[in-house]
Amino acid sequence: MDSQNFCEKCGQLLSENAKFCPACGTRVPGRSPEQVEEEKAQVRTFMTSRLKWAVALMLIYSIPFLIIGIWFTVDIDNIVNTLMTDPSLADYIEYYGITYDEAHAYVQYAGIAYLVSSVCGILSSVLCWKRKLYWVALILCIISMFTGVAGLFALFMGLFAFWIILSSKMAFQEYSEQLESELEKIR
Ligand SMILES: [Zn+2]
Repeated sequence: MDSQNFCEKCGQLLSENAKFCPACGTRVPGRSPEQVEEEKAQVRTFMTSRLKWAVALMLIYSIPFLIIGIWFTVDIDNIVNTLMTDPSLADYIEYYGITYDEAHAYVQYAGIAYLVSSVCGILSSVLCWKRKLYWVALILCIISMFTGVAGLFALFMGLFAFWIILSSKMAFQEYSEQLESELEKIR
């Protein structure tokens, strides 16, 4: 794979995994533990930068959702009054026979859904940022996607974030196990 195809001392052609030259017995230099450690650090840096994308995606919808959720919860009476007296909604309200209490319950539910979605999204981002508890981060990301009442937007962003976390985690795990076993062989 690497450049070490010939013996440094006598020029003998070496097989790919040879540790010693078959002709003169010189040790074939492999990668040093430092080189492998360095590669590990690079992989970690790469993964961190990918996870930052997942964090950004989740925060893009989580923060507005948090604001909407708080607004729906704090200003609920005002919002329901506005909805119930809105002339453009009058026909709709009459047709479905929506009462004030039903509208109130719906806005309350929507507010809670926004809050749950945003809190899960933000917690998931924090875990990604700290590179901790990936499986918890993934579960929170899913909850965040499906409670986002704004539907498709949160679903899309959440799904994308989910994919980034999962693929980063998988790739990183596989790669670091590979490097770990290489280290074990060298040491
Ligand atoms: Zn040799």
